[in-house]
Amino acid sequence: MRWEKEAETLLKRIPFFVRGRVKKRVEAFVRERGKNVVTKEELLLAKKALREKEAQVEEGFSVEGCFGATGCPNAVTSSLEMLAKIEELLKEAGLTEFLRQKVKGPLKHHHQFRVALSECPNACSQVQIKDVALIGRIKLGLEPEKCVFCGECEKVCEERALVLSESGPVLNEDKCVGCGACIKVCPEGALLELKRGYRVLLGGKLGRHPRLAQEILPLASEEEVLALLKKVVSFYQKHNQQGERLGALFERLGWEKAFEELKK
Ligand code: SF4
Ligand code: SF4
Ligand code: SF4
Repeated sequence: MRWEKEAETLLKRIPFFVRGRVKKRVEAFVRERGKNVVTKEELLLAKKALREKEAQVEEGFSVEGCFGATGCPNAVTSSLEMLAKIEELLKEAGLTEFLRQKVKGPLKHHHQFRVALSECPNACSQVQIKDVALIGRIKLGLEPEKCVFCGECEKVCEERALVLSESGPVLNEDKCVGCGACIKVCPEGALLELKRGYRVLLGGKLGRHPRLAQEILPLASEEEVLALLKKVVSFYQKHNQQGERLGALFERLGWEKAFEELKK
């Protein structure tokens, strides 16, 4: 494939570490158009077409997890099976087709309905900016009579949610994120897990008007997560205007009212 001088000059403006890849893609584009010379005009056409293609997505939804299920020591939950069920649920709800009709054009990244899950409260997978955020956590219980006052739990709790008093550990539930780190260090079993599940948040997004997802359930089982997700998807499909994100929809209808309806 021959490159005209003007096109070559433009190509040199592209950072060197992606230049080779861009060159190949431009040449493939030009070849597809039955030509064998890259002119400035062809290069600009290729740039526009490749940008548009990159912005497009096949599916109207995405489901992501974190590395927790594959061996992260911080993982509280292990959710590969649940993530597969969530993907199935979104497919069955016909979200891709639904969004295609709503946006009346090719689907782009910012149209996608996004579910993200972190297997512990560290939330590495940026769950708070997704439509549905799931965060693995536990509910902590105390048996202070077993405490030997070693102080290890107080030291390990990054949230300062556990304080050692004269009568044993005292928990501030509002501060506890449910990471379970204190249970691992307690030598006497004075701290225990009462329940394990997911904190569920809804409506996070970036874009022009970014906002973090808001908590709707503090600790839900897998069944409760799936049941809520079904309701959220049908609520989203019922009220959606022009493919707006869930957070924008809550903003328009009122968060409180929307959450009340979803919790029924
Ligand atoms: S969110 Fe937690 S479990 Fe997942 S990768 Fe990060 S630290 Fe590990
Ligand atoms: S579960 Fe985590 S946040 Fe809660 S008290 Fe224990 S160490 Fe602190
Ligand atoms: S780690 Fe266990 S034994 Fe030690 S102070 Fe905390 S609750 Fe008590």
